[in-house]
Amino acid sequence: MSPIDPIKLSQDLIRCPSITPQNEGALEILENKLSTLGFSCERFDFEGICNFYARKGSGSPHLCFAGHTDVVPLGDASLWTHPPFQGEIHDNQLWGRGAADMKCAIAAFVSALSQQNTCPGMVSLLITGDEEGEALHGTQRVLPLLAQRGDIPDLCLIGEPTCLQKIGDTLKIGRRGSITGKLICYGKQGHIAYPQNTDNPTPRMIACLKALYSHSFDKGTDLFEPTRFEVTSVDVGNTASNIIPHKIEARFGIRLNTLQKTENISQLLHAVCNKEGGEHDLTLTFHGGAFLTEDEEKISLIQKAVETVTGYLPSLSTTGGTTDGRFISAYCPVVECGMKEETMHQVDEHVSLADIQKLTDIYVAILKAFFH
Ligand SMILES: [Zn+2]
Repeated sequence: MSPIDPIKLSQDLIRCPSITPQNEGALEILENKLSTLGFSCERFDFEGICNFYARKGSGSPHLCFAGHTDVVPLGDASLWTHPPFQGEIHDNQLWGRGAADMKCAIAAFVSALSQQNTCPGMVSLLITGDEEGEALHGTQRVLPLLAQRGDIPDLCLIGEPTCLQKIGDTLKIGRRGSITGKLICYGKQGHIAYPQNTDNPTPRMIACLKALYSHSFDKGTDLFEPTRFEVTSVDVGNTASNIIPHKIEARFGIRLNTLQKTENISQLLHAVCNKEGGEHDLTLTFHGGAFLTEDEEKISLIQKAVETVTGYLPSLSTTGGTTDGRFISAYCPVVECGMKEETMHQVDEHVSLADIQKLTDIYVAILKAFFH
């Protein structure tokens, strides 16, 4: 059987407008390809989110490739100079939403399997449909079911975009955790010229935010940036210049490293707001803690496999947003290796055809090294 063309498969996937929570036929395309490669495919759909798991072989070693076919929205669609869901090729680039994050990486892995299709042990693919959304009904729900039947891989390779300047220059071996929150401070509305009859909540909000901005959580580690607090919005919704508002609302996010526990940060936030905020409501949402893969043997195996293709050893990083690696890392070591990060989530997202080919070669090398 002739190998699967990763560029053609990338185009087919981009042509499915699978903005979270839509699937639009993306998983069916993969099921079809993987079935022809001898994989058995199962669907795990929950609450309208489509996920699937494909496996071939049995026992160990077991390599799992994890990814998602859902994509982020277009943003301002009028700004796109190439149609986002047509998979057009211009100037040796493949254009479309999901090209970098992360349909081309999935296509590259499936193509790699078609070239390196006899792996002793087991290969599996966990492809989910809500990574770009709340991530509640994808990886997080399928993993426990797989674990129950003993399908725990020895290593999970995630195809999220990881590279900076050149394909294969960076692997992610961990990610920071994330907490988002909303703080509302309450006061008493009134005339600005009669402040004695009012209670302006604005200074109390400023005091809370200042205390949190100036708090030194930690200094980071060799592999992690320091934990940071950042405000994303402060609003009173006040259109009048002579009214003291009765409430003020702020939204914020904290990206935390492995030195921090979410419970400790929660305690700190509550303590600051209790001290400075007066009457207030603090709501926190936890999106997962930080993780770090410490299995040096597996990390080195992947690094060296990449080097056989590119000629350079990829550096190790933990920067960037959260991925489903936060859930998978509870079960097995996780290494992320995918396309360049540059245009992910942007208008006119695109990747070069040469990079798709090279990532395919990298995945072939990883399969060879893992199942040597
Ligand atoms: Zn992604």
